[in-house]
Amino acid sequence: MLKFQETVKHVSGSAPISTCSETLIARRYVLQQKLGRGSFGTVYLVSDKKGKQGEELKVLKEISVGDLKPNETVEANLEAQLLSKLNHPAIVKFYSSFVERESFCIITEYCEGRDLDCKIQEYKESGKIFTENEIIEWFIQLLLGVNYMHERRILHRDLKTKNIFLKNNLLKIGDFGVSRLLMGSCDLATTFIGTPYYMSPEALKHQGYNTKSDIWSLGCILYEMCCMDHAFTGHNFLSIVLKIVEGNTPTLPDRYPSKLNTVLHSMLNKNPSLRPSAAEILKIPYIDEQLEVFKNLSTINSYFILEIPEDPQIAEEYYNDVFDSCSETSEEEEKGEEEEENMEVSQTVSKTNLQTAISMAPAVPRGSRAINNTMAETKLKHMRESAIQKLGAEVFEKVYHYLKKAREQNASEDEIQECLEKVVSRASDCFEVDQLLYFEEQLHICSTSGKKVSH
Ligand code: ADP
Ligand code: MG
Repeated sequence: MLKFQETVKHVSGSAPISTCSETLIARRYVLQQKLGRGSFGTVYLVSDKKGKQGEELKVLKEISVGDLKPNETVEANLEAQLLSKLNHPAIVKFYSSFVERESFCIITEYCEGRDLDCKIQEYKESGKIFTENEIIEWFIQLLLGVNYMHERRILHRDLKTKNIFLKNNLLKIGDFGVSRLLMGSCDLATTFIGTPYYMSPEALKHQGYNTKSDIWSLGCILYEMCCMDHAFTGHNFLSIVLKIVEGNTPTLPDRYPSKLNTVLHSMLNKNPSLRPSAAEILKIPYIDEQLEVFKNLSTINSYFILEIPEDPQIAEEYYNDVFDSCSETSEEEEKGEEEEENMEVSQTVSKTNLQTAISMAPAVPRGSRAINNTMAETKLKHMRESAIQKLGAEVFEKVYHYLKKAREQNASEDEIQECLEKVVSRASDCFEVDQLLYFEEQLHICSTSGKKVSH
């Protein structure tokens, strides 16, 4: 639901802020324009009347959560308070959150440069590639940002080029910690938030999401910066999943140093416990050398002089607490399970096996939040709408019912592709429908397994 939408139309164009004082949100934000639509809601540019000089422009994310009781947002607000205390130049600043007009709203820093996905598309279209220096500098910035958050035990869960913004040619990671704020720290959160291209094998197999799963996604981003294409591609959702889980690890073109390729391969190890942490990657001599060069550039000293959160001890205790109460593997558990995991991950998974593994996985999370159900439904609604827009209602219905049946009967990819191409020009246009079916199945498993997604 686009609850702020009408107000934006009202102030569209270059209306001076003073003339639209009636549209004040939370007694300080004035809507400027719509920036885009994300998986869970709409994103607006706002002007903060109480903002510091030069920092007035901010971003408001409006997430429709239905009829929330006040106590259901308490937990989310507590988490938001902690997020707001974190500061790092490579992380999009999280300012605050509040509930207004039945929407959960998040206020963050505005990044006027576009996102990395746009930048990559733009370069690709004009046949350009990034220089090695550019890639390494950006990669180091991302590593420093990820390390800062991981040190504070905060996971991203949806690292992708669309969540990385450019500001003065420096990269900033958006939405860090936001997934847990909205969905709780559970398996369902990853299933619904993650983008298949960047999802790790263990996340796809519901074997627990941890910091190493973020490292996998960062590896996919490094590959994309070098090759201008996704690390794992496919015509449909399931073929991408299969490549991630059992396909070969992609290799960088010869124009890149083999040391960089080695780093990439370690990040894309199918076994999470064998992947290096962000801190470990920063200590690899090849990266560390470039880090020293980066440190000597006076303009980016702020990467190393960090503000300490107001009360780090309280924050740390809080994060330990939520980490341990969730379905993610805690670090201690992780060590004990390493052996077991090694076996599981190296196992070859056939397509049927994988489908079973996915659908049999414990999809009902512990400690999930009341917001989950509405959020999941909103996401499904958006996906359906977007697919209908792309294919047209009639074709959508045909594709949807065909794919549902084909997946149930475990039809082969070739057979599916052939049949789809009778209805659409490219089978890949049905990607979203395939993903929608997968999500619907996940939600169905949750609601029929005796426990409810919410409460
Ligand atoms: P997604 O689900 O793809 O992560 P988001 O809700 O994060 O979507 O964002 C939707 C769109 O809004 C993005 O494509 C981007 O163009 C814009 N956007 C999001 N956050 C910011 C920001 N901090 N600064 C500028 N633009 C942003
Ligand atoms: Mg985002």
